[in-house]
Amino acid sequence: MHLILDRSLGMAYSSKAQQSRVITEHWGLTNLYCPSCTSNSLQKSPNNTPVYDYWCNDCTGIFQLKASSRPIGHKIADAAYDSMVAAILENRCPHLFVLHYGVVSNAVENLFLIPGFSFPVSAIEKRQPLRPTARRAGWVGCNIVLSNIPKELVIPIVQQSMIVPAPIVRLDFARISKLQSVVAKQRTWLIDVLNCVRKIKKADFTLQDVYRFEPLLSTMHPQNKNVLAKIRQQLQMLRDLGFVEFMGRGRYTHRNENSNATEKYS
Ligand SMILES: [Zn+2]
Repeated sequence: MHLILDRSLGMAYSSKAQQSRVITEHWGLTNLYCPSCTSNSLQKSPNNTPVYDYWCNDCTGIFQLKASSRPIGHKIADAAYDSMVAAILENRCPHLFVLHYGVVSNAVENLFLIPGFSFPVSAIEKRQPLRPTARRAGWVGCNIVLSNIPKELVIPIVQQSMIVPAPIVRLDFARISKLQSVVAKQRTWLIDVLNCVRKIKKADFTLQDVYRFEPLLSTMHPQNKNVLAKIRQQLQMLRDLGFVEFMGRGRYTHRNENSNATEKYS
């Protein structure tokens, strides 16, 4: 992987947005590899495919690329709200590469991957419909709220201009791909509870620590009337998938082994 961008590709375009798209898409085509299998390159999607930018010839995984010269904030604007939520629930959400490049360095500075199965519905925020005067009046887009996706489900590939070796990226991907064994419709609950576990900011925690998130989880899942039972059930599933360990008597350990596990526990 080489981080420098080929700016000359943008010369044919006058719009900055188009220049950025052409340059970063080409960078992806020549530098991205499949984190889900051993394929060292990705193919461009057929023209005008609205839902993904690249696909893997070997494992048929599909990928989107969002690139910006602005540092990655806590929200990323994405496609239509309804189709994103449907894609999550129907288990056909593309894996999303999020890329930040430097204008001065003319290079990729940060790149991470949110696997398609890492998105909970709670991370998809509805935006205001477009104004009646807009070309697509009434269209409702969405924002991806990054803080609603547990950090351990997001895979760093380039961090502050340092390339994470591909075997580590693939190991991270394999570790969390166990989530795919959970039916897509049930995954949101699981990820929401895992995110609460992360917010405790302690490797060792108790059931009571997670119960404190009952009001938040009730707001996120208003149709569920027994949130505490749901929390216990999700903790069992997280144990079966290897994300937490049961230590007995309502005590747990959060096994945060992803290379993104930079949070320090006190
Ligand atoms: Zn692949």
